[in-house]
Amino acid sequence: MTEHYVTHQGKNIAFTVVRKKVKNVNLRVCPDSTVVISANKKVPYSYIEQLVKDKLPWIIKTMDHFETKRSIKGNRKYITGEIIEYLGSYYPLKVIEVPGREEVIFDSGDFFLFVRDDNDPVLKEQLFAQWYKDQAKALFDRSLERMHPLVAGDGIEKPSITIRTMKTRWGSCSWSRQKITLNTELVKTPPECIDYVLLHELAHFKYHKHDASFYSYLAGLMPDWKERKQSLKSFSANLSLCRG
Ligand SMILES: [Zn+2]
Repeated sequence: MTEHYVTHQGKNIAFTVVRKKVKNVNLRVCPDSTVVISANKKVPYSYIEQLVKDKLPWIIKTMDHFETKRSIKGNRKYITGEIIEYLGSYYPLKVIEVPGREEVIFDSGDFFLFVRDDNDPVLKEQLFAQWYKDQAKALFDRSLERMHPLVAGDGIEKPSITIRTMKTRWGSCSWSRQKITLNTELVKTPPECIDYVLLHELAHFKYHKHDASFYSYLAGLMPDWKERKQSLKSFSANLSLCRG
């Protein structure tokens, strides 16, 4: 294992090279923003360095993404200046104390939290949880309007959608009860990821298991499903899709 650097706009980007029995070279950015390259012994260092240089824009973007994620995870207090996640993007929060109605407002790329007591984190958390839930209902309904027509011709009826905060899964389905359950956390991911999870669950009404028929059906309906799945992973590596 060896440490190396490339310089980009006056900043040193460090990366670690691990010689392993891999086919060629694998490059990854870890959640702590370190860059690790596994490379076969036969791959010369000059090739690795060039690869890092070629991939720099992606590496920097990914490092920034993880940095933002880490700052969000560290004890959220819902105070002015904090970053709020919504539909795959990050927006600044402004907290305003008011004597009257308490609510969350999302307006032109800014979040406003109107609250009677700025020092009540539990209440602030509840207001946001309710806001996310309300958005989830509207967003998931719209996604169903987009996705259901893709499968309607295969005799799949429009299911009902239940929203829940789940610790392990993005979604699940019960074909016997014509029901799909989606994780509230999905509202923090881009719309194309919400569509993907919903379509994945809809496809289970035709093919129950994660077998070859299921995936070829899914690919026919949504050719870029793998990219969407990958994108979804970056929002929570702990959540898996569904058991099918
Ligand atoms: Zn599944």
